Amino acid sequence: MSRRPLIAANWKMHGTVASVQAYLEALVDRVGAAGPEVVVCPPFTLLPAAVLIATGSEVAIGAQNCHWEDSGAFTGEVAPAMLAAFTGEVAPAMLAELGVRWVIAGHSERRQYFGESDASAGARAKAAQRAGLDVIFCVGETLEQREAGATLAVLERQSTAIEGLDPAHLALAYEPIWAIGTGKTATATQAQEAHAALRRRAGELLGEPAAAGLRILYGGSVKPDNAAVLLAEKDVDGALVGGASLDVEGFWAIIHAAPGEHRGAEE
Ligand code: PEP
Repeated sequence: MSRRPLIAANWKMHGTVASVQAYLEALVDRVGAAGPEVVVCPPFTLLPAAVLIATGSEVAIGAQNCHWEDSGAFTGEVAPAMLAAFTGEVAPAMLAELGVRWVIAGHSERRQYFGESDASAGARAKAAQRAGLDVIFCVGETLEQREAGATLAVLERQSTAIEGLDPAHLALAYEPIWAIGTGKTATATQAQEAHAALRRRAGELLGEPAAAGLRILYGGSVKPDNAAVLLAEKDVDGALVGGASLDVEGFWAIIHAAPGEHRGAEE
């Protein structure tokens, strides 16, 4: 199974209806079926506007989080099926074609500020897949953990949560916490080492063929000027981009830096 590069924008808590409309209008016509897969994840409130513009294009829309239950008394939370249901609201005829297609689970900012655990992140990912969504599952170590030589052990523990997920609707994101929003990027060698370890771990959890086809994204201060070096690494199959994705030209430059060819199990 070959691995098509995947470049995802995480807008975090930024943006307005007007800004997501302008951004996607500038992006949708440039993204073709042949290059990297492109996903834009704006905040919940902007998802209907984003889906409306992206429908029929090669840009998929993702959410930044979802709840682990399908419904219930959870004030302020959003169930995965509600995300998929946006499609029905805005473009019924395209229900199967495009809606909110992706959701991020286990982002380190959720782990850091909102009590996300390995177990809750895994439960969200499973619920998202039950609702038909594809999942970007994030893992990554703190600076203290890296300095203590614990990086690979932390990644092994965190990635256990992907066991039981459908690998066909999953991407992993290696996001060293010390590199997120800090301007510090992992070196290509550090990224490759972590990605190779995650692919080995995915082999144990999901089976070797699934691991060979699994896309593992790098995230952490990816910018137009460092993207190509990171994306050239053998096991770096894409990028999850925060700050630099807010500017459509910067995000486009990162998309453009992804290798044209797909990588595969035959390597
Ligand atoms: C992220 O939010 O997933 C991220 C990697 O952010 P940044 O690119 O700003 O470091």
